[in-house]
Amino acid sequence: MMLIPAHHFRDIERKPEYLQPEKCIPPPDSRPAGTMWFIRDGCGIACAIVTWFLVLYAEFVVLFVMLIPSRDYVYSAINGLVFNLLAFLALASHCRAMLTDPGAVPKGNATKEFIESLQLKPGQVVYKCPKCCSIKPDRAHHCSVCKRCIRKMDHHCPWVNNCVGENNQKYFVLFTMYIALISLHALIMVGFHFLHCFEEDWTKCSSFSPPTTVILLILLCFEGLLFLIFTSVMFGTQVHSICTDETGIEQLKKEERRWAKKTKWMNMKAVFGHPFSLGWASPFATPDQGKADPYQYVV
Ligand SMILES: [Zn+2]
Ligand SMILES: [Zn+2]
Repeated sequence: MMLIPAHHFRDIERKPEYLQPEKCIPPPDSRPAGTMWFIRDGCGIACAIVTWFLVLYAEFVVLFVMLIPSRDYVYSAINGLVFNLLAFLALASHCRAMLTDPGAVPKGNATKEFIESLQLKPGQVVYKCPKCCSIKPDRAHHCSVCKRCIRKMDHHCPWVNNCVGENNQKYFVLFTMYIALISLHALIMVGFHFLHCFEEDWTKCSSFSPPTTVILLILLCFEGLLFLIFTSVMFGTQVHSICTDETGIEQLKKEERRWAKKTKWMNMKAVFGHPFSLGWASPFATPDQGKADPYQYVV
């Protein structure tokens, strides 16, 4: 899941008087202004398609192998409703994580005028990205897949074909949470189905032949177990890094803490929005992060 290019560690650090903006030519922006954020990366697009395919496979098995052939209509209706709702929220979170600008720093803003406008004090250090010719705010990192500097970049996730950063971390956390929940729900239903079918006649259990049913259910079991472990570990790691206000990259680099320490609750609000509400669990609610000055520099 983590793709952390080595060149993050080779950022050029210069004092303002040595910045030479005229020597830096920013790469052309392939994305016309106003268009949706979408990373054109073959590997990421393939991983995102696989993610959707796996969720739809689980949908198919849960509905057509387990719930629809079942004679217990109340059981089928309740479980069908819960599973579909969770799957819908998982896919909606996936879309928002993929299509939200994670916090890209404007390209080519390392101009003389911009640096002067920052009114830096003598001795104050700014970081300049040599690849996108931008002045990097504190805690921003360059991503080689997105080809941009991303504010509070945590990691680049090919499964959502995007960086996880300041603006889309909420959707990424929700995505891991809902995938873990549908995996757990699917596993519980498979368990009940096996118990029920061993007692009864197999032919009454599914509209598919017994071998096909068993293969489909075992595949769903594997998928559910794998994703339950994977996404719940990721969810735990993300919540921990939000609470401690330290991104994945900062933990890896063991960076010295230069930013103010806040309470865990404040850090959660900074990602999920102010104040606490049902919107925290909704991929449709854009968090009001009450952003601080995005250009904070190291003194
Ligand atoms: Zn950059
Ligand atoms: Zn990226």
